[in-house]
Amino acid sequence: MRPEITLHNTATRQKERFDPIDPQNVRMYVCGPTVYDRAHIGNARPVIVFDTLFRLLRHVYGPDHVTYVRNFTDIDDKINATALSRKEAGAAGTLEDLIRERTDETIDWYHADMDALGTLRPSSEPRATEFVGQMIAMIEDLIAKGHAYAAEGHALFRVRSYTEYGALSGRSVDDMIAGARVEVAPFKEDPMDFVLWKPSTDDLPGWESPWGRGRPGWHIECSAMAHELLGERFDIHGGGNDLQFPHHENEIAQSKCSGHGFANVWLHNEMLQVEGKKMSKSLGNFFTVRDLLDGNWSGGWKVPGEVIRFVFLSTHYRKPMDWTDAKAREAEATLRKWAKAVEGVEPSGETDPQILETLADDLNTAGAIARLHTLFAEGNYPHLLSALTLMGINLNALETGAGARRDEVATMIEALLEERTLARQAKNFARADALRDGFAAAGVVVKDTGEGAEWELAPDFDPAKLEALK
Ligand code: AMP
Ligand code: ZN
Repeated sequence: MRPEITLHNTATRQKERFDPIDPQNVRMYVCGPTVYDRAHIGNARPVIVFDTLFRLLRHVYGPDHVTYVRNFTDIDDKINATALSRKEAGAAGTLEDLIRERTDETIDWYHADMDALGTLRPSSEPRATEFVGQMIAMIEDLIAKGHAYAAEGHALFRVRSYTEYGALSGRSVDDMIAGARVEVAPFKEDPMDFVLWKPSTDDLPGWESPWGRGRPGWHIECSAMAHELLGERFDIHGGGNDLQFPHHENEIAQSKCSGHGFANVWLHNEMLQVEGKKMSKSLGNFFTVRDLLDGNWSGGWKVPGEVIRFVFLSTHYRKPMDWTDAKAREAEATLRKWAKAVEGVEPSGETDPQILETLADDLNTAGAIARLHTLFAEGNYPHLLSALTLMGINLNALETGAGARRDEVATMIEALLEERTLARQAKNFARADALRDGFAAAGVVVKDTGEGAEWELAPDFDPAKLEALK
C-alpha cells in the first residue's frame, strides 16, 4: 500500500490528497533560475524543497515513475548586458557566442552549487533558447483563438479574454491592476495585457517570427516548455511564492487559453528573508550558495552543503525563514554528532513509517527532523541513516566535505590540551586557566577523566576563538 500524500494546493488554498494523473509517470514542473549570475541562498530554497518532494515521490511511485522538469531561463536582459560588456572589452566571438558562454558558465556554477546541497538533477533541464519554436507556435495559436494580438512588433496576451484570471491568487483583475506595476504602453489594448513576444534591436539576440525579429516574454517560456515536456495536463507546478503573480497567473492564462489542462496542484515555497525582507539580488541583501560553501560570508566559516540543506529543511516550506549563523552551527553540531554515531552502521532496509508519514503530510520536513532526533535518542541508527538518505542528507559527504577541517580542529584541541597539562605540571596556572576559559568560550566542552581529558563540540563551537588560543 502506498502512503497517502497530502499537499497544500495554492489554487484551492487547502491541503488535498495527492492523486497523480498517471502513477506510472508522475509529472512536476518547477520554475528554474534565470542564468545571469550565481544563485543566492534564497534561490536554493525552492531547489531543496522540490528536491525533497522529488525524492518522496520517487520513493512512493518508484524512481523511474517520476518526471521532474526545471527550466533554465537563458533569455534575459542582464545576460545580454554581460555579453555586451565583454564584447566591448574586446572578448572574441559574436554576441551570440558570448551570451552562450555566459549562460554555460552560470549553468555550470548552478549545477556545482546545487549538487553540493545534495539535490538530484531533475529529469530534464530545458533551456528556453531551445524551445523558441514551440513558444512561437503557442503564441500563434493564442492569437488565432482571440486570446492574444499583435501590435508594433509585439504579441500581447489579452488578459480580459480569460475570465478566470487571478484565480490562483484569489484576486480580481481590478485588484491586481491596483496593486501591480503594470506597464502602460500605447500599443496595449489594456494596461493589464502582458508581453508574449517583443522586438529585438539589431544589437540584441533575436529569432524570426510572424511579428518580426524578436524574443519571447518570460511567461510563455514555462507554458511552452511544460507543454512540450510534460503534456497538456500534469500533476504539480512549483516555485517560490514571489512567482504567484504575475508569473504563474500568466502561465495559467496562456496554457488554459491554448486548451491545455495545465497543472493540477500548485505548490509555493515561502521566502528566505534577511531581517524581515525577502533576500534578493535587487535589494543587495544576499549571499550566494558559493559564499556559504567557501566561508565568504558574515559567519566567516565554510558551511558544508549538508548543513545548508538541514537548516532549510528545519523550517516548513510554507513558512518564511531566516538564515542565521546560530542555526547553521547548531545544524552542523547535530549532523556531526549523528555522523559519529552511525559510523560503520548499515542503513535499515525499510523506511521508518513515521518519517514517511510526516514527509507525506504536506512535506513536513521540520516534523521529520524532530523524528530524526528521536531515532537518534533511541539509538535506532539504521532507521536514522535510511531516513536521512530519504531526505537527501548524506553524512558521508559531510565527512569528506568538511572532514579535513574536523581533523584539523581535533588536532588543534589535542595539542592545546597537551599544552594545558604541561602548563599545570610547570605550575603555570595563568596559562592553564586561560586555556580552560578559552575552551569554554570557543564552545569546546572538556571533561577531565581518570584517563585524561575528553572533549566535545558544543552547538556554539567557534573555530576562530579556538584558533586564537594557540
Ligand atoms: P529567479 O532566478 O529570481 O527567477 O528565482 C529562481 C527561483 O528562486 C524562483 O522559484 C524564486 O521564487 C525563488 N526565490 C527567489 N528569491 C527567493 C527567496 N528569497 N526565498 C525563496 N525563494 C526565492
Ligand atoms: Zn515559470
